[in-house]
Amino acid sequence: MLMKRSSLLATIIGLVLINLMMATSVHSQFPQPWDMISTVPYYLAAPIIPTVTGTEITFVRPADVDSLPYHDGMTMREWIHYLNARGTRYMSFTEAYYLDCQYLPDSVFAWYPELLTEGRMINLDGNPVPYGDYGDDNWVFCEATPAWHNFLLRVVLLAIDAGAEVMVYDTPQGLERCFCPYDIQGFRDYLKNKYTPEELAALGITDIDNFDYGQYLRDAGWTASSLNSACNSGQTSDIPLWDSEWIPYQEFQLRQHWASLVDSARVYAQQRYGRDIHFAFNLSGWGGAIWKLARWSSFTWIEIFYDDMIYPQRELTIPLVKVCEAAGRPLNPMTSPTEPFSTSDLGRLQIAELYSNGGIGGPGISSHPQNQLMIPYFQLVQFHPELFDAQPDGEMAVLYALASARHDISAEIAFNGAGYLLSDLHRTFDALFAGDGDWMDDELTVNKMSRYRTVFIPNQAYLTETQAAVILDYIAQGGVVLSTGQVALYDPDGNPGNWSTLQSLLGGGYQTYGSGKVYAWTQSFCLDYAAKRGVEEPEAENIRNTVAAVLDTLVPPWIATDFPRTVIFERRNNPGTNSLIYHLINFNYDPGTKQVIPEQNHQLTVPILETQSADSLAVTLYSPDDYAGHILASPTQMLGQRLLYKKATSNTI
Ligand SMILES: [Zn+2]
Repeated sequence: MLMKRSSLLATIIGLVLINLMMATSVHSQFPQPWDMISTVPYYLAAPIIPTVTGTEITFVRPADVDSLPYHDGMTMREWIHYLNARGTRYMSFTEAYYLDCQYLPDSVFAWYPELLTEGRMINLDGNPVPYGDYGDDNWVFCEATPAWHNFLLRVVLLAIDAGAEVMVYDTPQGLERCFCPYDIQGFRDYLKNKYTPEELAALGITDIDNFDYGQYLRDAGWTASSLNSACNSGQTSDIPLWDSEWIPYQEFQLRQHWASLVDSARVYAQQRYGRDIHFAFNLSGWGGAIWKLARWSSFTWIEIFYDDMIYPQRELTIPLVKVCEAAGRPLNPMTSPTEPFSTSDLGRLQIAELYSNGGIGGPGISSHPQNQLMIPYFQLVQFHPELFDAQPDGEMAVLYALASARHDISAEIAFNGAGYLLSDLHRTFDALFAGDGDWMDDELTVNKMSRYRTVFIPNQAYLTETQAAVILDYIAQGGVVLSTGQVALYDPDGNPGNWSTLQSLLGGGYQTYGSGKVYAWTQSFCLDYAAKRGVEEPEAENIRNTVAAVLDTLVPPWIATDFPRTVIFERRNNPGTNSLIYHLINFNYDPGTKQVIPEQNHQLTVPILETQSADSLAVTLYSPDDYAGHILASPTQMLGQRLLYKKATSNTI
């Protein structure tokens, strides 16, 4: 009998779209975020895959949950019990700053009259703000008001009563332009708590107890209209106190609102039902926006605009999926490519890269026949959780510093570019997430870094003092650091960093320090690569060649193959089964035919784990076409601790 085994997983691209996830039966705990599939107000095509489904709960009556109607005569509670009995969990999705009156019973304002009297957002002219063009009684509400906060809390409690296990919020960030009495008072309290009377006087505020920021702006000549224009165009620097005080206050207030709501809901779910309730927030956007409420979320649930990305020729989601996993908030995208699933391979590529890189969920399954073509992809995940629950085990890591992301959009773009670059060079990598100590804890340690021989630092100019010290220690202890562009210059407040040794090491060229090595490119290669990959290929190829020349010299590659760069590798290991997993995804997508061009007849050599031995190794190939998998016989051979997989003519990837 084999004592140890290894799995070679080929994710073969050849079918159409949808989404789902792991068999709940393989998980002992119920529920964990990664057990959750998707959302979307569509329901299971077939009871093949347990999933979390959901819809908006906006029919909120102050009465019992059994007044929440669903369909076919069922109440919401009956419907969720029906799904639960079939192994499906329920995720409720709702808007966080307006009520969608398309679906709202007229009587909602009779049940909750305070929403109209004091829950609405008030603009600088003193008027409530309508939402969209749904007609009368459609308003934007303000989370600083007890009326709206308590209404949202009521929705969660009803969802918990009904059996929902996840609450997901769209647009949880509010609008930042509300001058209702609660925001005026809140800003007053915020300033009073932050500054001494002398400091306030220096800001031009002499009577804080009567300070009215709305009046202050109106006195300075601002109106709701001019304020909107300035905000919408990003020209806010002329608005007095706006960027320096008002926006930080809004963030402070927003976080208080969600912290209170989430804590109350969790206590309620535990005390009343002895279970958990999970939360997630759609906070798409750059500047580290997705982490703003991550302290209260179980997973990352965001809109990804695949159709604007030039996907997958220019951009991939691999770096994003990886950094979400590294931050302990696995990615569950609420969107998928909009190309019809039946005619395009894009949906299958999305699922392949999502699951092989540590993501969960994805768009829901509907019963539309074209969606059935995605089912083999999810069956592979469902029947082989050991391949997808495995730990990231890349040969190097890429650092994502949240302080950098918050200050400079190019830090996030360069992080993505580094991910594309390493993927294209067949270098398996993991993300190293470094919190800023504010939105997310700063937990980077030398131990975490030292799992990797090499760490790539692309344009991460803002670090905490701890992170700078950790990176220097890592190098001293034998680590290899490669950096591009401006790196390690500032602290999270934007002041020059007080770590000159690291700065001089990362200042350019090749240097050694302790037993480690550093190569720093002053050029922003990763930033450039994110823009040029697949669209300006001569320049992109120059970057690949320049980086590979240095990288291959400093750290020889683990993978040797004649697969083209469009076949991307992911490496994981599963200590529980002593398995090593290589995912292969073929991204050679032809936008003309909308199909992936198959690859075959290639050679691949990969390292195995030190704990594995060549004479007791089984190599198994899985794919959506063959999710039972089959053990590869010849032609494979061992070269020391490396496995050669040669000319696999019978296996098409
Ligand atoms: Zn307000």
